[in-house]
Amino acid sequence: MSHADALENELKNINALIEKHKDKIKSLQRREQELKLKIQEVKIHNTSRHIRGCGKIMYGSEHQAKIAMRQINSQLIDENKKLIRIYFCSECNAHHLTSK
Ligand SMILES: [Zn+2]
Repeated sequence: MSHADALENELKNINALIEKHKDKIKSLQRREQELKLKIQEVKIHNTSRHIRGCGKIMYGSEHQAKIAMRQINSQLIDENKKLIRIYFCSECNAHHLTSK
């Protein structure tokens, strides 16, 4: 098989995969847009609070933080970005979420 044939084969495979997962890709793209908006929202949220606290989003109670953590994690695609811990920040006098 020539090099061009091999490349064409790979291209065919990729096209077949794209066709096969078309709906999944569409929903992922929708989610991507939602997340981009959400990130913007969170960044604005953070900035407005930066003056008072350490810059992270503050939660008034561990319970609120837990609910937020569950919501955020359920919307994440990348498992590595999942939030795993709630901690109390003495600088903000509030709870934060962290993925570390
Ligand atoms: Zn803080």
